[in-house]
Amino acid sequence: MKTFRKELWFNVPTRRAFINITSRVEECLRESGVREGLCLVNAMHITASVFINDDESGLHHDYEVWLEKLAPHEPVSRYRHNRTGEDNGDAHLKRQVMGREVVVAVTGGKLDFGPWEQIFYGEFDGGRKKRVLVKIIGE
Ligand code: ZN
Repeated sequence: MKTFRKELWFNVPTRRAFINITSRVEECLRESGVREGLCLVNAMHITASVFINDDESGLHHDYEVWLEKLAPHEPVSRYRHNRTGEDNGDAHLKRQVMGREVVVAVTGGKLDFGPWEQIFYGEFDGGRKKRVLVKIIGE
């Protein structure tokens, strides 16, 4: 069995963003040489997500509005977590809702997606370097 591991780095200048990382994961898959197997992609930070959905700007706007309604960034005093001196209580909650990781089947050397599926990195507390782990196993 082949195994492949790579970290993708991000430094998002804004507090929040959604970034399509599908082509970067496909690049990892090519590099791995795996034709049949599984591809795991996970955020290595507790204030960022990896998720699969449509690459549609209206949807991304809706996520932003919905998440801000669920867990508004301000006032930062509303979160007990922020008593530690941090201001990212909302980002931990947003990440929980949007998920830590995705697993995609690898078939015939390709990511075996359903219609319109794309992989995204969701940043909820940007302005610093953060990583995503790609692990691919198979034959
Ligand atoms: Zn925190």
